[in-house]
Amino acid sequence: MKRRQFLALSLFNPLFGFANSHAKTGLVLDDMFLQHQISPAHPEKPARYQAIKQQLHKSQLINKTHSIKPIVDAEQWLTLVHSQQHIEKIKQQQPETHKNAVFATASVLAAVDAVCQGQVTNAFCASRPPGHHAMNTGQEEGFCYYNHIAIAARYAQQQYKCKKVLIIDWDYHHGNGTEWAFYSDPSVLYFSTHDMFAYPGTGLPARTGEGAGKGFNINVHLDCGATDNDIITAFQNELLADAERFSPDLILISAGFDSRKDDLLGCHTISDQGFIQLTKMVKSIANKHCQGKIVSLLEGGYNIDGNASAVEAHVSALIDR
Ligand SMILES: [Zn+2]
Repeated sequence: MKRRQFLALSLFNPLFGFANSHAKTGLVLDDMFLQHQISPAHPEKPARYQAIKQQLHKSQLINKTHSIKPIVDAEQWLTLVHSQQHIEKIKQQQPETHKNAVFATASVLAAVDAVCQGQVTNAFCASRPPGHHAMNTGQEEGFCYYNHIAIAARYAQQQYKCKKVLIIDWDYHHGNGTEWAFYSDPSVLYFSTHDMFAYPGTGLPARTGEGAGKGFNINVHLDCGATDNDIITAFQNELLADAERFSPDLILISAGFDSRKDDLLGCHTISDQGFIQLTKMVKSIANKHCQGKIVSLLEGGYNIDGNASAVEAHVSALIDR
């Protein structure tokens, strides 16, 4: 087939899936993610990243991804979500932590650049510390300092034609910082599955947004012991129709794997196969509405081997065509 014929078929025949034939997955791995440590016994520890890196090498998935390097000077973008006062307090009290948390933000913003500029179709950031509990309290909230996913949503809206951003959060904990950032904002649809009885004690399903943002905040409580079937059903019943109406320009995932079975801090029982199914569901929304554009980033996940195994499953599903 001549190239021109192929291109014409690609553009007009859905069987040839133009976007998919060029689909690529980006990956942010960087040993800077080993730097941050709250205390030696703390569950949010550097070994989380080390195990992910080893697993992605061992499985050779790393060879099927495109390496993305964090952007330079991400600090300027923190104020898209955080107050100067919050940033100054973190910076003064914990300068090293500030540097490491900004680096995590930098990795997520680089992934947004790569996806929104079309260098890759989707991307995963194995970044830490996590971010979805961070607000403007001038201190750490649930191991989080800066809310990378909220900053990434604002950044994508400002820098690219990604005006409507869908954030999907399957971490065991409710992303109260992300809810806070967009609670009255109809340009960001926030969907979270979590255990509302766990830290931070938020995430009531009755909290659906306010003002113009009413209906753009979806909280789904899943009991202790929740299974693959429970979380997949929640996605089917509580997310798909709203996502269809919303028609996102970009999807961001708060990929917390403390909802996986055998986690130290969680009591959901999601399997690696379950995370593959969730990833496929998110990809089908993205393929339909936004040319497959997904940026996923690590949040929780404290069983070192389990977390790495879930990341491998998730990344393999992001790569899978
Ligand atoms: Zn969590």
